[in-house]
Amino acid sequence: MHEFHGNTVFMEGATRWRDTEKGVYFAESTWIPVGRMWQVQAHSRSGGLRMAQKKGNAVLTQCGRCEVPKAEKFCRVEKGKGPANCPSLHKRELVKASRENTPPEEVVFARQAAIQESVGYRNRDKGYGHVTPEKPRIVEVVEFAKRMGYKHLGLIFCGGAQREGEIVHEILETNGFTVTSVMCKAGKVPKSSYGVTQEQHVDQTKPVETVCNPKFQALVVNEVGVDFNILVNLCVGHDSIALMHLEAPTTVLSVKDRVTGHSPLVPIYQYDSYYRYLKHPLPLDDL
Ligand code: SF4
Repeated sequence: MHEFHGNTVFMEGATRWRDTEKGVYFAESTWIPVGRMWQVQAHSRSGGLRMAQKKGNAVLTQCGRCEVPKAEKFCRVEKGKGPANCPSLHKRELVKASRENTPPEEVVFARQAAIQESVGYRNRDKGYGHVTPEKPRIVEVVEFAKRMGYKHLGLIFCGGAQREGEIVHEILETNGFTVTSVMCKAGKVPKSSYGVTQEQHVDQTKPVETVCNPKFQALVVNEVGVDFNILVNLCVGHDSIALMHLEAPTTVLSVKDRVTGHSPLVPIYQYDSYYRYLKHPLPLDDL
């Protein structure tokens, strides 16, 4: 049995338990090697078998597998509970480090982001069960940029979302911002320069295809010194390159998902129905 009592975790079969506030919690004897990692088996409070993992001596943080109900989570409420690998409980030094030597502009940024989150709801005076979301993300992006006093925005968008990019550009200008916008194909670098063959083109009938160039997009907005960047619909990987090179703070308005109308959570919402095949490993051997 794996039970939560305040900050203490009790493990059936464990040769010892410790207060999770103080660090070690699983009996070492319960760890088993799996590949390059280690796993520990434990029975969750709900009775299901649960695996925790560690790499070397480091226990892996896995909030994505936290079984503590939302209203009881240690990270959300006073006197809450956390599982044995809860980072809020065990990574106190990192929590401290995350708050130390924070530049004043970052404090302002964090405060404004927190305020923006709150004002995205009405009925806040009635309590959590009544709060009502009322602002789409585009409105939040505009409001946040205004709160921060930004004047010049970089808009990094995908050519597959040309019209969307144009509309976002217009909305930003309508709200008084100067906008530098760069489409992903800007720079006109052929895919062949990266060793991509015609057979690997999106359109295999064309000998020349322009590569997405997120580094160029980043360099363009960096050069002009924008205050803040907004990404619209970049591809997986291209967004990563842009984020590697952008100098100003950046937010993401939307991400590319060609199948779901750029709503990548659709398969997650339908995980138990039409996307149940995701419960099995994808056939990735040919990659
Ligand atoms: S921080 Fe702790 S309590 Fe919060 S979700 Fe992660 S594991 Fe659960």
